[in-house]
Amino acid sequence: MPEIFINGQAIQADGDKTVLEVAREHGQFIPYFCWHPQLSTAGNCRMCLVEVEGRGLDIACNMPVSAGMKVFTDSEEVKAHRKAILQFITLNHPVDCGICDKAGECTLQDHHYTYNGEPSVSSIPKVHATKFHDLSERILIDNERCIMCSRCVRFTNEVSKTCSLGVQERGDSSVIRASEDGRFGKDPYSDNVIDICPVGALLSKANLYKTRVWYLEPTRSVCPGCERGCSVQFWHRRAEWKLNALDQRQNTTIARVTPLDNPEVNGPWICNKGRDIAKALERPRALEAMLKGKGAGLSHAIDAARRLIAAAKSPVALVSSWGSNEELASFRKHFGSRFQSFVKTDCAAEAGEVVADNILIKPDKNPNGTAARALFGSSPPAFPAGTDLVLIWGEGCNFSVLPAGAKIIFLGSYLAPENGHADVFLPVSVQTERRGHYTNFAGVVNAFEPCFAKAPGVADAESLFAALAASVGVPA
Ligand code: SF4
Ligand code: SF4
Repeated sequence: MPEIFINGQAIQADGDKTVLEVAREHGQFIPYFCWHPQLSTAGNCRMCLVEVEGRGLDIACNMPVSAGMKVFTDSEEVKAHRKAILQFITLNHPVDCGICDKAGECTLQDHHYTYNGEPSVSSIPKVHATKFHDLSERILIDNERCIMCSRCVRFTNEVSKTCSLGVQERGDSSVIRASEDGRFGKDPYSDNVIDICPVGALLSKANLYKTRVWYLEPTRSVCPGCERGCSVQFWHRRAEWKLNALDQRQNTTIARVTPLDNPEVNGPWICNKGRDIAKALERPRALEAMLKGKGAGLSHAIDAARRLIAAAKSPVALVSSWGSNEELASFRKHFGSRFQSFVKTDCAAEAGEVVADNILIKPDKNPNGTAARALFGSSPPAFPAGTDLVLIWGEGCNFSVLPAGAKIIFLGSYLAPENGHADVFLPVSVQTERRGHYTNFAGVVNAFEPCFAKAPGVADAESLFAALAASVGVPA
């Protein structure tokens, strides 16, 4: 391992790494725009210039380490060049942070204040470019804000492999454009370019001007959109910025979904379905227990379900593949010997959805099928003869194939016509209201945390199973 010196600190460096990588690993920050740990090196923004004794200035992102090299990341010459680079980058930039969705998490804003902090020295009028140009149905570009780092182009070339973005024209006429065959619109990973754009050039149409990032906070979660179980952050309104009058729904809704870097599962990326998962989680909720379609108190409905369980001779349970590891264990503990239990497919791929690929997307559109199948059998082609009670936990059950005459207990979270067809309907909480773990297709266990308080009138499945088992004498 070659020994190098960064700002006087002796470092045993990995000889295959660049000065920028070694510096990052050892707590020495070097600013950059175009470099990204998961993309090839472009070296075009010049922001990571450092001084090497005896060699002068060069970019750290493309500089291999060599034994004995002495690197200075904050010398007077480096500082002067960084200022000049920031002056150059903002030469034609509109600096419209006041209305930009990226404000508050913009690398250009941060670097400008840290390393320049001065108004433009140029007296020449700025060159204007296209504002709000459609790259796809999901994404807009403000070309005036673009600093031509090329991260978005490299992402579609190297990660999503659609090669659907490129640079048109030259010099200060350069613009990022999508290929004319519409490939960018079909790229199921396209929204990752919004995250990696270091400025506010690439904008989500769904989130445009919706909120300011400083009003939001992230909660660690797991995307339930497929058995990959990508680590994500659900962003929602901070308690101290709670809306008390206008549109209070914003207090309990997911404002956006972003990836949470997890090298074991998804790296720093997620697919667009994961970005849109709030639409699935925030469908109209079932908030009232029912007996044969008529509203009932939760405790009354639990009593009715207990009586059905106590009376059944041959009960069958269809277990949710969206249940957490904790809920599955609770069901097995309380009802493992009482019900014949089979894992149900709660969600199938929707029309037009990418079913599977060799990047992230997996064919099973349920987050915890692996853990559920390890505890319970898969659904049989037909119900066992004599089935007189079916406990259905979660979505995806075709009520028309249930055995005639069998009683039905249904645990669900969303409004659906089937709720009223059950003898007992019990409303249960959703992922954003509880904590737990899912086990993905590869056996990686991943935790999710609650973002919001439980909706009034609903129960957690885990405590519901304990309550249902408690007084009917079900053997543990
Ligand atoms: S749009 Fe953003 S990511 Fe793409 S080149 Fe411009 S600044 Fe870089
Ligand atoms: S790959 Fe699967 S788990 Fe990951 S974001 Fe997409 S749908 Fe969600």
